[in-house]
Amino acid sequence: MPGTELFGSEERKEINDVLETGMLFRYNHDQQRNGIWKARDFEAEVRKITGAKYAHAVSNGSAAIAIALASAGIGAGDEVIVPPFTFIATVEAVLFIGATPVFAEIDETLCLSADGIVKAITPSTKGVCLVHMCGGMADMDAIMEVVSKHNLILVEDAGQAFASSYKGVSTGLFGKAGSYSFDFFKIATAGEGGIFVTNDEHTYQIADAYSDHGHNHIGNNRGMEQHPVLGFNYRISELHAAVGLAQTRKVPAIREANRKNKKMLMEMLSATSGISFARLADPDGDSATFLNMMLPDTETAKRTVDEMNKAGVGGFNYWYTNMYHFVNQWDHLKEMRTASKLPVELTEHQDYANLNLPQSQEVIGRLISFGIRCTWTEDEVRTLAGNIRKAAEKAMATVTA
Ligand SMILES: *Cc1c(COP(=O)(O)O)cnc(C)c1O
Repeated sequence: MPGTELFGSEERKEINDVLETGMLFRYNHDQQRNGIWKARDFEAEVRKITGAKYAHAVSNGSAAIAIALASAGIGAGDEVIVPPFTFIATVEAVLFIGATPVFAEIDETLCLSADGIVKAITPSTKGVCLVHMCGGMADMDAIMEVVSKHNLILVEDAGQAFASSYKGVSTGLFGKAGSYSFDFFKIATAGEGGIFVTNDEHTYQIADAYSDHGHNHIGNNRGMEQHPVLGFNYRISELHAAVGLAQTRKVPAIREANRKNKKMLMEMLSATSGISFARLADPDGDSATFLNMMLPDTETAKRTVDEMNKAGVGGFNYWYTNMYHFVNQWDHLKEMRTASKLPVELTEHQDYANLNLPQSQEVIGRLISFGIRCTWTEDEVRTLAGNIRKAAEKAMATVTA
């Protein structure tokens, strides 16, 4: 979680600016706030890094996906194609805006594949919620071809892919709307925070209003504003935005350090036969927050995880069984345990308890992801590489024996 590695005086300074005025609310109160607009500055910083025409800061990344879906015009009864490998917020966002998730296959990019999307299309498919996983990016040329051929609305959950890109375009900006997360575990954190992005003015205006009870934010009398759409409260506070601003300024340097450390770790591991890496659709666009190691098969990956646990090696995720990012762990979804009835329960949908996604099972079964730290020393990387190699070699020897 690189952002938090560098928490320091820059963050404190931005927070103090807000504490000086006591203006914790992001809108209005022009006189009291003394020129301090942290949410606006945070948004400007995100626009600078991503090249987005519009960016809107909100309370968290999960809210930002829901806002992206809703402002893109996706709602009740619409089918939205989603991946089985994502933080579950993607699926929750689709469910809670009233739409129906349809799971499709991922490939070795760890993201939905163009082929997987095509196979999941039905007459009710309205859009795709593509997730750029583990700091990388989906195979955008092929996906854009499918999206435009089938006239689908593309929304991107780039929750883990802030500052990554494909052929020079930031993840999150290929479709109608996109989202980034600034929670505690991402490349930059606001404590809690999210950013909605789009290049489309109308979509931005809807999102801006939707995320604040429908307010159009025109004029300086909040009570008398117009309400173009119904909305809800997904606002970010100035305190969170202040942290997000300071952290976002550090992202270019964090990304550079991540890339250097990831490259070093990959080079040290690549000599070991049986170890390969997930595919990056554009290696130059990697934000390098994870090294995604692929073992020959699921059994070997499980044994490698066991060997690493025995040896006390930390800092990795085995999503297939250990983490909350893969469909295998989503029992509440499979059993439709809901607090109250959701629109999806009134429509036809996949049998979520019996999804048939063999390719995704195979890819995630083989995957072990290591969080890259931007503050690693070369010695630390060398030690980690040695420990990974030992564990993988032991695991592979067991399998062939
Ligand atoms: C972190 C994350 C989210 C959720 O973001 P929050 O800010 O924690 O709400 C959504 N999608 C993906 C892919 C994520 O990694």
